Amino acid sequence: MNQPRIEELSNNSPRSHRFLVIGAGFSGAVTARQLAEELPCTIDVIDTRDHIAGNCHTSRDETSGVMVHHYGPHIFNTNSRRVWDYVNRFGVMRPFINRVKAVTSDGVFPLPINLLTINLFFQKTFSPTEAREFVAKLGDPSISEPANFEEQALKMLGRELYEAFFYGYTKKQWGCEPRELPAAVLKRLPVRFNYDDNYYDKEYQGIPENGYSDIVQGILDHPAIKVHLQTRFDPSELASPKYDHYFYTGPIDAFFQYSEGRLGYRTIEFEKIDAEGDYQGAAVLNYPDPAIPWTRMHEHKHFTPWESHERTVVFREFSKETGPLDTPYYPKRLAADKRLLAKYRSLAEALTNVSFLGRLATYRYMDMETVIGEALDFSERFLLAARSGTTP
Ligand code: UDP
Repeated sequence: MNQPRIEELSNNSPRSHRFLVIGAGFSGAVTARQLAEELPCTIDVIDTRDHIAGNCHTSRDETSGVMVHHYGPHIFNTNSRRVWDYVNRFGVMRPFINRVKAVTSDGVFPLPINLLTINLFFQKTFSPTEAREFVAKLGDPSISEPANFEEQALKMLGRELYEAFFYGYTKKQWGCEPRELPAAVLKRLPVRFNYDDNYYDKEYQGIPENGYSDIVQGILDHPAIKVHLQTRFDPSELASPKYDHYFYTGPIDAFFQYSEGRLGYRTIEFEKIDAEGDYQGAAVLNYPDPAIPWTRMHEHKHFTPWESHERTVVFREFSKETGPLDTPYYPKRLAADKRLLAKYRSLAEALTNVSFLGRLATYRYMDMETVIGEALDFSERFLLAARSGTTP
């Protein structure tokens, strides 16, 4: 995230400042809220879509009443008390533990890989210590510094577990060989030598009782903030700026009209299934088998176990390369993307009245908690600079 630069902005000034926030997801909403609470200002928040909350958007399905995660499953998980307290200010977070299963041609296994996965997969009755020693021997000792996703997996788990649970899923998900991906993608997933099958290992985990859009609505609900949906930002307005500062949370390459080329993203498509009762018995089933075209299936009523619904809504999730009209989801960050990003970053740094923040504007694979934490940090720095009237 580039540093905020503020000119002629001071809390002592009688003038109320005008800000434009581009994007009504968590980054934009949190930034707008923090500035609205602390500075005399008016803030327009614009978004091209017809809803707030970006890819976290949720709403109730008309037929079933089930709360649907329109852009795929979002389970809030964080170790940050500050971030957790922040979301809890704007809605009730209900406890939710994601217990994912992998459906393979050899059976159904719990994820992330844990003692039950290992014992079922190898048909053993290992204790934690035995399993740890067994898996350590499976790991490839010739890899000392894993340079990519595949090497990281082979070093940690060996070929059999890698091929059963990671290779096919990752190839479908990212549309490339796992050896082309950074090792950090795999580091998102823990491997456990006990029977803990909680997908995340964070201290605070939950799902908002009334969905994510309700939380974002609460954040944006401030007299200084006006939201304008289906409104596109035209960067040419920066030639004669109408606002004191712009906060851009859209794709960085789009901001510069793709002048240097397009950054690679994966997008997701969903096939919706409307059914009765309980379709798959869990919120998320992953399909690592390369012969199955979808990556995972999610049954949304299992994200609200405190509710009861007769009907059910299930999404099959397909990953594909992003075309010009598709919603960008996962930044690929291949070597060519990183070179392109460096060019866009230097263009962005030359703009003193625009700050770039969030997943799309910084082109990073970010969880909700990171987005919120960074928006809070960014706002603090911006406010500090604004109050001292300096350019940080
Ligand atoms: N992954 C995998 N098999 C799985 C689940 C995940 O190989 O069953 C890999 C895949 O490359 C994925 C990464 O681990 O992109 C991170 O998974 P995570 O569940 O964190 O992805 P997200 O929920 O962000 O889509």
